[in-house]
Amino acid sequence: MAELFYEDDADLSIIQGRKVAVIGYGSQGHAHALSLRDSGADVRVGLKPESKSRAKAEEAGLRVVTPAEAAAEADVIMILVPDPIQADVYEADIAPHLKAGDALFFGHGLNIRYGFIKPPADVDVCMVAPKGPGHLVRRQYEEGRGVPAIVAVEQDASGKAFDLALSYAKGLGATKAGVIKTTFTEETETDLFGEQAVLCGGTAALVKAGFETLVEAGYQPEIAYFECLHELKLIVDLMYEGGLEKMRWSVSETAEWGDYVTGPRIITDATKAEMKKVLAEIQDGTFANTWIAEYKAGLPKYNEYKTADENHLLETTGKKLRSLMSWVDEKA
Ligand code: NDP
Ligand code: MG
Ligand code: MG
Repeated sequence: MAELFYEDDADLSIIQGRKVAVIGYGSQGHAHALSLRDSGADVRVGLKPESKSRAKAEEAGLRVVTPAEAAAEADVIMILVPDPIQADVYEADIAPHLKAGDALFFGHGLNIRYGFIKPPADVDVCMVAPKGPGHLVRRQYEEGRGVPAIVAVEQDASGKAFDLALSYAKGLGATKAGVIKTTFTEETETDLFGEQAVLCGGTAALVKAGFETLVEAGYQPEIAYFECLHELKLIVDLMYEGGLEKMRWSVSETAEWGDYVTGPRIITDATKAEMKKVLAEIQDGTFANTWIAEYKAGLPKYNEYKTADENHLLETTGKKLRSLMSWVDEKA
């Protein structure tokens, strides 16, 4: 059984007594910096002088210094720059300023799990990974709620690293929703698998294949878009609220019958065998190494895939239809 932690299990005064550096001010960085500050922690943001995020952080009333200055001042350093550049930022700006007793924090375990970052033995190494996009993490905090988080300790130099990590999570509002104890290995491997096989990769491929099948058979792209993409949200909302059971309770009996007999013809034993291969490539580091190499080469294939999908009929059809639905806000 998972170990769960809530408000009373975490002591906010621990993080309030530390000097926190949040390196990066993107999706997660802004949420962590603002919510920890509002929770009474002493926060500074580390950004390069030319950073585009600098003005936003300053407008929000945060003190912004360089990543190296932030790391030097602070004793809790949270690295929230993109995963492929974390090792470079760590080497250049953080490692030279790490002192015994400091704590190095991550929002995702990739760089520790695959050994791209190797911290010294005398610092705590912790992870607080909110299970939601950064903008939602911040919005939920402002509404007095929280996005759940998973928390891990890779290295416990102080003997108190877990309490520190829980305190940090409380500062984000996460203990209101629930915090689960994990390891860097479990978080990294399940996170990469989930986004590849189910959430992003699997779902996008399923939607595209369904849309293409209908359009190639001569049906109108607009109908195919509503059927294969738009309605997916309504179905997923029901699953989110009450699992597969609530979804099946709400859809027609015809849809439920089709679910039982056709689902396993689409996601077959071959699909599951491929999922196991995907998982093995995550576990043995193949995926991480390929991704870092692609990033360092200037993202040639990434940009190719991106452009191809931007021009896909699914996307151009969706843009047109969404612009006619006033309540669907692309910018929100
Ligand atoms: P973003 O891409 O949103 O944030 C990038 C930030 O890093 C920007 O402020 C950027 O500044 C800054 N940055 C880029 N290069 C440097 C540098 N060399 N030195 C200092 N700052 C730099 O990142 P995310 O928030 O998406 O991801 C951060 C971490 O959180 C990752 O480990 C990710 O896996 C994890 N995570 C992310 C989630 C999410 O919701 N996105 C969910 C859970 C975990 P600028 O470009 O202005 O210079
Ligand atoms: Mg994830
Ligand atoms: Mg992820």
